[in-house]
Amino acid sequence: MKVTILYGPRDVRFEERDAPKIIKPTDAIIRISATCVCGSDLWPYRGINKVNQPTPMGHEYCGIVEEVGSAVKTVKPGQFVIGSFFVSDNTCPHCQFGYQSSCQQREVVGGAQAPLLRVKLADGTLVATPEVPSGDLIPSLLATSDVMGTGWFAADAANVKPGKTVAVVGDGAVGLLAVLSAKQMGAARIIAMSRHETRQNLAREFGATDIVTERGDEGVARIKELTKGIGADSVLECVGTQESIMQAIHSTRPGGHVGYVGVPHGVELNGQQLFFTHVHLHGGPAPVRRYLPDLIKLVWNGKINPGKVFDLTLPLDQVAEGYRAMDERRAIKTLLLP
Ligand SMILES: [Zn+2]
Ligand SMILES: [Zn+2]
Repeated sequence: MKVTILYGPRDVRFEERDAPKIIKPTDAIIRISATCVCGSDLWPYRGINKVNQPTPMGHEYCGIVEEVGSAVKTVKPGQFVIGSFFVSDNTCPHCQFGYQSSCQQREVVGGAQAPLLRVKLADGTLVATPEVPSGDLIPSLLATSDVMGTGWFAADAANVKPGKTVAVVGDGAVGLLAVLSAKQMGAARIIAMSRHETRQNLAREFGATDIVTERGDEGVARIKELTKGIGADSVLECVGTQESIMQAIHSTRPGGHVGYVGVPHGVELNGQQLFFTHVHLHGGPAPVRRYLPDLIKLVWNGKINPGKVFDLTLPLDQVAEGYRAMDERRAIKTLLLP
């Protein structure tokens, strides 16, 4: 089979590799129905994270179970399943507390931009849909594998509640779905920070009530202006740069919450500055597995349509163009069909 391999900065190849096999009795092999390029795939693609060896890419996936190991009990061949970017046993203390992305047995998923994927710890990791879905549901189900779950965690970690004022830093797929999540959780006011018109429009469609185009200190000043000088109750940070994290912290009212899900790159916080902001900080790699059953239900029942973030669909063999389009910000997110 042919799979996606990153060799170095902007060098994505689609190459022949052996098909994965069951190695441990807890494994499953799934035939990928759809996969996609993640914003976090762009860090190594751009050379910001070093690529030391040819690396199979892709960690967002859904598809049909092809084969399971002898110990797998909760999923079976023929089922349509979705999993997160970390495998987890779903039984250890951290999983029990709802932090499956800190599972004692967690391992990062790689190689999902391929026709077949081996998923370890299948029982703990994979969630099956009620039936095999129709094709129109697949983009939104795929989104629950990462971006939707990550946006949801940003909102949950930032304590979004009915009636609250929320600001979202970042207009990538996660930021847009953080807007959708805040709307679902009943936020009264949702301020999306974006300077791109197509992204602003999607943010409005997902529930944003205000758009702020300014960044950094000017962005903070606009949020203050819009909230009578108080700041937002909840700020959802979906970028991971020094500027975006500081923008999030300073846009939050004293006593408010920052949910941060952008993987930090080169971020340093000043302890004393942080001390006097009085904000709650909660973030990290989203425990998507905790949210998967509920998010799948919301998609299945037509309550949310997070698949709208995919504005480019390509056959898997054109994966390199999928990366380029996102790198050049011609696409928000690329859906890939094997
Ligand atoms: Zn991802
Ligand atoms: Zn665990």
